[in-house]
Amino acid sequence: MQQSQRTIIEKVAVLSLDKQIGELDSATITIDGGRITSIEPTLDNPHAVPDHRAGDEVINGSGLVALPGFVDTHRHTWQSAIKHSYAELDPGVYFAEVLKGLGASYQAEDVYIGNKLGSYAALSSGTTTLFDWSHVQNSPEHSDGAIAGLHESGIRAVFGHGWPTSPDDSWTANSVRPHPADIRRIQAQYFRNGPLDDRITLAMVLRGPEEASPDVWQHELRLARELGLRVSVHTGAYARNAKAAAVQQYANAGLLGPDMTFVHCNHLNDQELQLIADHGGTVSLGIHCEMNSTGVGEIPFHRLLQTGIRPSLSGDTETKCTGDMFTQMRMLWAYHRSTLTRIGPERAAHMPAVTLRDILGYATINGARAIGQETEIGSLTPGKRADMLLIDINALNLGPVQDPVASIVLAAHEGNVRDVLVGGTFVKRNGALVGVNTQALVDEGRRSQHNLLDRANSRTSMTEV
Ligand SMILES: [Zn+2]
Repeated sequence: MQQSQRTIIEKVAVLSLDKQIGELDSATITIDGGRITSIEPTLDNPHAVPDHRAGDEVINGSGLVALPGFVDTHRHTWQSAIKHSYAELDPGVYFAEVLKGLGASYQAEDVYIGNKLGSYAALSSGTTTLFDWSHVQNSPEHSDGAIAGLHESGIRAVFGHGWPTSPDDSWTANSVRPHPADIRRIQAQYFRNGPLDDRITLAMVLRGPEEASPDVWQHELRLARELGLRVSVHTGAYARNAKAAAVQQYANAGLLGPDMTFVHCNHLNDQELQLIADHGGTVSLGIHCEMNSTGVGEIPFHRLLQTGIRPSLSGDTETKCTGDMFTQMRMLWAYHRSTLTRIGPERAAHMPAVTLRDILGYATINGARAIGQETEIGSLTPGKRADMLLIDINALNLGPVQDPVASIVLAAHEGNVRDVLVGGTFVKRNGALVGVNTQALVDEGRRSQHNLLDRANSRTSMTEV
């Protein structure tokens, strides 16, 4: 059995994100059965006999930093084959074209390819857990494709089951259409003693008061709770959504709870942010996309901090930003510092302090909290899953390093990620994804992209006729 072989990483610097273990200049990490079993500082004694046994894989971690894998709490992974095509356009064009035209043209195969491509790319840049925010459930087969793409890549994922894209507004404008009942089939088929291991879990993504009628948004949340699923909902992005006062409506209905993750939150008022905090809810900021989305609203980062909420981070849609978490951290830090400049020293003095270590925490342990898995992942802690990355700290863009946290948050990128493990299994090793022909993967994505564009164009020309 593969899981009985231990992996021992020696002389590795550790950023554990675990308060008890902290940061270690040199340590030995032992992995057994997919979990971290110990993290011990390297002994100074040159005569000490290492605790090895036959069959152990021993890795020299000199020059490497180990940290927990990143947790991306909101990604429309299905859009991975049409990445970087909407950054110069008004966000309204994205909504009209991707969520209606192209989205409605997606076949199950496209969702599978998009999810596979996006998951592998996430793994390569150190994201070991992805919340796949999947609002493309055009048929049961689309959901099957999404799950297959996630599963095949080896990533840890939460499949966030949503609703279909369609050429009209019937699913997203005061919608009277209930959440697709197929979620019951998916839960029964895949997640209740089904063929998947526990690497993939199920959640539900909601339309909420901004997109659904009161009966529907209350029903979808009650359905999620009946099925025992966490939920995630886009909330408060763009001024038009402020008047829905979604969080206030959830609170008024007595439905606000700690199982909810609110995405964006730009136009929520302070009282609504406080309601999220008071009810134990969590928040996901898609900082790079938000900064690229003209009109989305001010990033609520500092207002969140004032309520006590510490956000998680997310790659959102690669159609107008990058999904990698290094960029999210770097953008948030720059946003924070530039905000202090903009508001001036007097107001800045009253802002909550933010450190680079806080930012790294948002991308790891806070992400784990936001998907309800903080006892399993999000830090390097004995007993937790061995989801981690090893960064080459001597790369030219990082070395010579004084503080590895500063180096990683400010300057690290995918190319510095030497190894990635999910549940103790190497998915990236010595700089390359394990068992993946990346050229073939990109070619597959390109074929899907061309098919999507052809279908969307023929739909448009038919409409014009
Ligand atoms: Zn989103």
